[in-house]
Amino acid sequence: MQAQIAINTFVKETGGYVAAQLEACTRCGMCAEACHFYLATGNPEYAPVWKIELLKRAYEQRFTLAGRAKLALGIDKPISDEDVAHFSKIVYEACTMCNKCSMVCPMGIQLGPLIHEVRTGFSEAGVVPADLMAVVNKQVEEGSPLGVTDDVYADRMEWVADEWEVELPIDVKGADTLVVFSSIEVMKFPENIAAIARILNAAGEKWTLSTTGREVVNFGFYEGSPERTRMFLQRVFDAVKELGVKKVVVTECGHAYDALRWTSYNIMEVPAGIEITHIVGLIGEYIRAGKIKLKAGAYNNGTLTFHDACKIQRRGGHVKEPREILNILAPQSFKEMTPNKEESICCGGGGGVIAIKEADPIRYAAFELKIDQMRNVGAKTVVMSCSNCRLQFTDCVQHFNLDVKVAGLCQMVAEALEE
Ligand code: SF4
Ligand code: SF4
Repeated sequence: MQAQIAINTFVKETGGYVAAQLEACTRCGMCAEACHFYLATGNPEYAPVWKIELLKRAYEQRFTLAGRAKLALGIDKPISDEDVAHFSKIVYEACTMCNKCSMVCPMGIQLGPLIHEVRTGFSEAGVVPADLMAVVNKQVEEGSPLGVTDDVYADRMEWVADEWEVELPIDVKGADTLVVFSSIEVMKFPENIAAIARILNAAGEKWTLSTTGREVVNFGFYEGSPERTRMFLQRVFDAVKELGVKKVVVTECGHAYDALRWTSYNIMEVPAGIEITHIVGLIGEYIRAGKIKLKAGAYNNGTLTFHDACKIQRRGGHVKEPREILNILAPQSFKEMTPNKEESICCGGGGGVIAIKEADPIRYAAFELKIDQMRNVGAKTVVMSCSNCRLQFTDCVQHFNLDVKVAGLCQMVAEALEE
């Protein structure tokens, strides 16, 4: 039954684009070497190409002569409920949707988006890991995966404004820019909210928060459900219309940036003429335009490195700005990990993986690659621009008892602002 629903969804999704991608695969296996879960464990089931195996089998068995013949002759088996349950663990627990595999495929196959199609089939079939689904449901019911209800949001914002003595404009109609935080920042890294507010205020931005469009994290996107992805995006776009802003700034959340900046345009109507950008891109613009000035060399004490987030740097292209910022703040102590920029290794906690308890062993195993990278440059501080990565680093630094400080880029910028 579950298998049939998943197959039907796969088949529905298998238009010309997906079929061409599946047909192009030569089974060379090069994508395996790009995947941190495969590299960390050596498990062949974690090879990216294996993660789309059911999509491929469904396509072949339904649409190709060879696939139908193999099925009729018993060479291939129909996809079963057991297959679906087994692969559900693989594509949710051992894939962060980082899309590094797509970059190395010699045939140009977009493995990340194809794995997302597999998740969509599993979402329709109701075989999403229970931990992840519980968080999705919380976002549906409460408007936030971390319980940031209307009251909690109002209390937190009031507290942040008092604690850091910063102005936080809320629901200002006619503002130019809507800033949307993730609940990870609201609940775990509130100092980020104060930091970003200080930067925006220093630059003279006419900005606002929204009490209704307040959550940028999108657990429907992690789940692979177009319906729930749309539902969560709609809340932000409704706030855009209500407040009449021209620009939306996503703060330190990578997957949210992907969902809002690109996926939205493919699955729903986005308010016309709206600009969607990431806070790191905006800070880069402020610095280049002279709207803010930073204290040069403010962090020249102890080696510092930068972790590139898959969705902000690899996908989003904001590769230059963090380097421009760190070369001002720490010209002598900033050192690059290898590989870096678009080729960076994922932290291992994205794509909803960090929300799944059963994935903890492979999540930690994948992080050991980052530990090696940090050790190789002797990093005392690791900086990043995604709060989901920051959650993973913070948890792993504690788990492995590492002597490394985890820092948010915006916070460093705010602390180094020239008055
Ligand atoms: S690298 Fe590309 S062609 Fe090679 S196995 Fe992976 S998906 Fe197929
Ligand atoms: S998207 Fe990233 S985590 Fe998923 S299979 Fe590809 S390389 Fe691995």
